[in-house]
Parts: sequence; structure tokens; C-alpha cells
Amino acid sequence: MAEIAVVTGASSGIGAATARHLIRAGFDVVIGARRLERLEDLKSQLEAEFPERVVTALPLDVSDTASVQAFADAIGAVDVLVNNAGGALGVDRIETADEADWSRMYDINVLSILRMTQALLPKLRASPAASVVTIGSVASTEAYETGGGYNAAKFGARAVTRVLRLELKGEPIRVIEIDPGMVETEFSLVRLGGDAEAADKIYEGVDNLTADDVADAVTWTVTRPPHVNIDQVQIMPRDQVAARNVHRRNV
Ligand code: NAP
Repeated sequence: MAEIAVVTGASSGIGAATARHLIRAGFDVVIGARRLERLEDLKSQLEAEFPERVVTALPLDVSDTASVQAFADAIGAVDVLVNNAGGALGVDRIETADEADWSRMYDINVLSILRMTQALLPKLRASPAASVVTIGSVASTEAYETGGGYNAAKFGARAVTRVLRLELKGEPIRVIEIDPGMVETEFSLVRLGGDAEAADKIYEGVDNLTADDVADAVTWTVTRPPHVNIDQVQIMPRDQVAARNVHRRNV
């Protein structure tokens, strides 16, 4: 029987690509996000491409404990959990930052891991060899101006991931952290409140990572032999030598 992977935030970007890569690697997938119509589209595409695999699409709001519990109750066995849902809100300096944005970032990037882990740990424990993956960020290790709220959240996600690995010592569950640099997805559109022009500028003239690059890394880590724990992978575009130090061409 195929192993089953749960991917949160699979309606877009890295999550959608991860679902596709994991299916290609032989997993059945359960995909969750708030935008169900996007998930249904992805499910149809994946089922057409990989008719032998099982794709389950379910509504999921990782900031809502009841939604997370309903999601967990609706699924069966789980071998891999990819905590991908998350993101940034705003590019304000600390002196003017919006407290509500900071709370929301903590909620979707940190508390989401707590909620998903608590809800799915019994199922992961029933797997002979399970994996939990956090999609962190270069922002989880490198502070940058105007990144305060997102940095705090992703530093937090990193801490939670590491504590989980310590607490699961001796159990057949590995805990993996994937920290990408700039990936061209809807991330900046969301961060900049829907300003498409400003979001495009972030990626302009740079050979950015694609969602597929990150999905590839996730898939590699969870397909190692079970005794191997790839603790952390930082994956950057060659053009991005630090969080805010990027080589741009022709702009
Ligand atoms: P994206 O295209 O904006 O995708 C974000 C995904 O998260 C969407 O599927 C969204 O789905 C989901 N999501 C957001 N809030 C949610 C909630 N409350 N409940 C459930 N799902 C939620 O951005 P992305 O780049 O793929 O981001 C994926 C992860 O990678 C995030 O954790 C982000 O912080 C991290 N990351 C991104 C970059 C980058 O440069 N793009 C770099 C480093 C790390 P719905 O809106 O449908 O719910």
C-alpha cells in the first residue's frame, strides 16, 4: 500500500508542487487549504496525470483548531506531514508594524505547526516510519530590515521544529526543516496585500527558485532510508547570497 502524505497550503506555490512531486514519488496525498476550488482543480490534474494514485482534497484553515481537527478526523493513515501553509504579511519596520499582522503571522507559521502536530501525531505514530517536514525560510535564521514579524514567526517555527525532534527521540518519526530563499510563488502577492506590480518587482531580473525546486528537496528528504534524518536544508537561488542581497539582471 502507498504511503500517505498530508500537505498543508497545497492550493498554491510550494504546497501544490510538493503534492505533485510526492505523488510522482509514489505517495498518495491529502491536500488541504482554505481555497477548496483550487484544491479541487489540483486534485483533477493529479488524478489525470497519475490515475493509480489517490488524491484527497479537504478544506483546512491551519489558524482554526476546529478546522484542523475536522481535517484530521476526515483522513485515515498518515506517514508524512508537510507543514507548508504559512506566509508573510507586510514589509513594515518595527516602529510602524501592524500588531494584527504579527499575530496572524505567528498564528499561520507557528501555531499551525502545533495544531497540525497535535491533531496528526496519533496517526503518524501508527506509521512504521513517519516524517514531519516544516517549510521554514531563510528568514528563520537571518534577520533583515522590515522582516521583523515574519522573522519572529519563522525563527519560532524553527524552534518548534527542533523541539519536536528532541521530544520524539526514540520514536520512528523524523523531523525535517526545509528553509528556502526566494521562491517565485504568490508569497509576495500575499505579503504585499495583493499589489501585483510590487510583487513582480521582488522577482524581477533574478533566477528565483521555483516551487518545484523546493518540492524536489522535500521529496528527497522524505524518501531517504528511515534511519536517515535530514535535519535541515537551506536552499537558495544562486543569485541570492543573503536574505536581502540579490543579484539582478537588466533592471
Ligand atoms: P503561496 O503561493 O502564497 O502559498 C501559501 C499557501 O499557504 C497557500 O496554499 C495558502 O492556501 C496556504 N495558507 C495560508 N494561510 C492558510 C491557512 N490559514 N490555512 C491553510 N492554508 C493556508 O506561497 P508559498 O511560497 O508557496 O509559501 C509556502 C510556504 O513557504 C510558506 O510557509 C512560506 O512562508 C514559505 N516560504 C516561501 C518563500 C517564498 O519566497 N515564496 C520562501 C521561504 C519560505 P489558502 O490561501 O487557499 O488557504
